[in-house]
Amino acid sequence: MLIQFTNNGIYCRQADVYIDPWKPVNKAIITHAHSDHARTGNKYYLAHKNSESILRYRLGNIVLQTLNYYETININGVTISLHPAGHVIGSAQVRLEYKGEIWVVSGDYKVKNDGYTIPFEPVKCQHFITESTFGLPIYNFPQAEEVNLQLNNWVEENAARGLNSVIIGYALGKAQRILTGLKTDQPVLLHSTIYNTNEALGFDNSRYIKFTPEFKKETLNPGIVVATGSVVGSPWLRRFDPYKLAFCSGWMQLRGARRRRNADKGFVMSDHADWNGLNEAVLATSAENIYVTHGYKSVYSKWLREHYKLNAVEVETLFEGEGIENDSSENVKEEKE
Ligand SMILES: [Zn+2]
Ligand SMILES: [Zn+2]
Repeated sequence: MLIQFTNNGIYCRQADVYIDPWKPVNKAIITHAHSDHARTGNKYYLAHKNSESILRYRLGNIVLQTLNYYETININGVTISLHPAGHVIGSAQVRLEYKGEIWVVSGDYKVKNDGYTIPFEPVKCQHFITESTFGLPIYNFPQAEEVNLQLNNWVEENAARGLNSVIIGYALGKAQRILTGLKTDQPVLLHSTIYNTNEALGFDNSRYIKFTPEFKKETLNPGIVVATGSVVGSPWLRRFDPYKLAFCSGWMQLRGARRRRNADKGFVMSDHADWNGLNEAVLATSAENIYVTHGYKSVYSKWLREHYKLNAVEVETLFEGEGIENDSSENVKEEKE
């Protein structure tokens, strides 16, 4: 077998390379810059070129080689290439081929086009490693346009009542989608982590206000605040009173998740595949052997075995999927507020 599941992570012995290892190794291929996939301490990194600036911002001074999508490199006879995963900017599926054996490690992915990230493309293989963050039939996400419409209506309604709109989402991926989706004349203030992440990504910040401790209430009056989950329940939020609070996450499909967070509103916006997306992606690879990681791995692998007669197994990893707040995949150096 070309790929093994080891204590350090997903390993290709022939090329002596790990994909998204969770312990420091010599050679790591990184599918994307979320921190449960891109960890510090590896001697050498390989990633997509659009991940370069964000990886350097998050991991500091690393030895990094980058590839374009479809570009191949050869390591000890193994042909390696990266393919769009549609998850966040620079996210890639890793294809490895050796003597006719083809594996695809998809990292995190979503099949629906979000209008911002380069869309997912299925890659034919015999062995496919898939996530299953939303691997239950109840997860059926709306199209991006529909969510954007709801988001824009909500911020306008709040403004009409003199209320600020506080929108919570990850700094990498979600924040850029929220900002791309907002069509408004209201002032938009960004939490510094989001502002700085945008800067690292080369995402245009010129229209936004960066939060500083000198912030004056009148700056918004009313307006929009986009922040990470780390501010929820913290005094940081109080300065935007009166406000309404919304979360952007796939979990917002569950009423209870929103209620537990005391959110006024939940937008079903996810960077992961929903139930149909997972099935579509798995079938499009034509792979007979499916390895299911983070999420509903036991339910989803069982479904693939019973419904599609695939050789599907669950695999233990340290990947964490999508959180709602204080998410571990956002463990970046938080700037002082
Ligand atoms: Zn991710
Ligand atoms: Zn993940």
